[in-house]
Amino acid sequence: MVVEFHNEPATDFTDQENQQAFKDALKKVKAEFGKEIPLVINGEKIFTDDKYESVDPANHQQVLGTISKASKEQVDQAMEAAKEAYKTWRKWTPKERAELLIRVSAIIRRRKHELSALMVYEAGKPWNEADGDTNEGIDFIEYYARSMMELAHGKQVFDREGEHNQYIYKPMGPGVTIPPWNFPFAIMTGTTVAPIIAGNTVLLKPAEDTPLIAYKLIEILEEAGLPKGVVNFVPGDPKEIGDYLVDHKDTHFVTFTGSRATGTRIFERAAKVQEGQNFLKRVIAEMGGKDAIVVDENIDTDLAAQAIVDSAFGFSGQKCSACSRAIVHKDVYDEVLEKSIKLTKELSIKHTEGGSDVYMGPVINQKQFDKIKNYIEIGSKEGKLEVGGKTDDSKGFFVHPTIISDLKSSDQIMQEEIFGPVVGFTKCDNFEELLEVANDTDYGLTGAVITNNREHWRQACEDYDVGNLYLNRGCTSAVVGYHPFGGFKMSGTDAKTGSPDYMLNFLEQKILSEQF
Ligand code: ADP
Repeated sequence: MVVEFHNEPATDFTDQENQQAFKDALKKVKAEFGKEIPLVINGEKIFTDDKYESVDPANHQQVLGTISKASKEQVDQAMEAAKEAYKTWRKWTPKERAELLIRVSAIIRRRKHELSALMVYEAGKPWNEADGDTNEGIDFIEYYARSMMELAHGKQVFDREGEHNQYIYKPMGPGVTIPPWNFPFAIMTGTTVAPIIAGNTVLLKPAEDTPLIAYKLIEILEEAGLPKGVVNFVPGDPKEIGDYLVDHKDTHFVTFTGSRATGTRIFERAAKVQEGQNFLKRVIAEMGGKDAIVVDENIDTDLAAQAIVDSAFGFSGQKCSACSRAIVHKDVYDEVLEKSIKLTKELSIKHTEGGSDVYMGPVINQKQFDKIKNYIEIGSKEGKLEVGGKTDDSKGFFVHPTIISDLKSSDQIMQEEIFGPVVGFTKCDNFEELLEVANDTDYGLTGAVITNNREHWRQACEDYDVGNLYLNRGCTSAVVGYHPFGGFKMSGTDAKTGSPDYMLNFLEQKILSEQF
């Protein structure tokens, strides 16, 4: 149990002061466009000749910043720095480490709108989603810091006559953090700070699409006084340095969030013991989802439609937890579909800098845009395109929220992760069948059940094979400390971020047994 933890509240954008503060933050961020971002190795800022650009996905001609790329040699230097820093950082008490990180979260809180505003430009986030992303980053820090302070006491083992025993937790060594672009602050921050609060040191390789927001964390860590070398910043091309980071003989753990293909590749590669390596690596992999909302008979169809639309189209469906399948009982299918179409038609889509009322922005990049467009074409043949389907990449990567109905569970768009604003509808005869279809996927991340039948809910609790199962609500919006997040099957190692167990991913247990 983690005591005295409170979630960071969402910003109320109906308040004019908050509106103004956010607009000011957008201006401040805009004034910084074009900045050059270095690598940071052992606290030293290194600008390399080999660079790439981060662009605004809603206006892809707009360069937001230029980022230095780390080479393999620089990865080696960063690893040396992390090894050196580990020698002293591991000896800081958990309380001292936690206190420093609480300072980090205080700085983030003060600069909250600036960070969120940057995600409006770099990730195409609507204001509320960007605000939620920053808040979740704060939550992760606050939660893990408290969690580590509790683990500092170890766990109970027993003494017997003439013998005193202790069960304690210790860090592992340097490791690698590989975050995704979809929660470019929250997940990047959570997967960077958890290992360091535990006493490890880190090489952080940010996602290619969102290095600027990751660099903000680096600046804040420095401002808070984190010792040099504890977090080293090594942005770069994953084709050049991705395997190298994972394979490195000194990498003790890899904490990864991203696609199934990359996650399984990392899992496999990390299993190989390299020359000079005398330990086994740990991999924490959070991968994809093919999440569903299951809608039973005799339910509130307004609630069901709202849950589906919110979960399918929030942040353009680019959440691992997004609803990409609506599996609906035949008695309410037409009504739920019709109401979902109506709600979808009301959604606004444009550059999210326009205001807090813009519902959806672009998708992240050309590759995702092309992939989603292709899936819409496939889906339109497999089922019936009800709404959306429009795409436009002339200025930004815009994909309109799309509903495709009358699909079969075996259809390609009901099986493969799309990671965009597309949801498929399918119809079933009874609850058993609804659950069967819900489980008919390689993934097992989130799911929601809309039902008023307690027996059916109990059945879903037993048989619906997902890490996060929700009743009578959508399947997104997990909150740190309330809904620890992580999934089964090919969704990953179920590391459960924001849970009382999460810190254990970065710790080893040691027994001290003393004879009197
Ligand atoms: P997506 O397709 O959503 O971009 P990826 O799995 O490719 O998902 O990316 C998630 C993270 O994994 C990013 O930080 C990316 O740079 C990184 N990555 C991609 N390929 C590799 C690799 N071979 N080794 C290590 N990291 C990688």
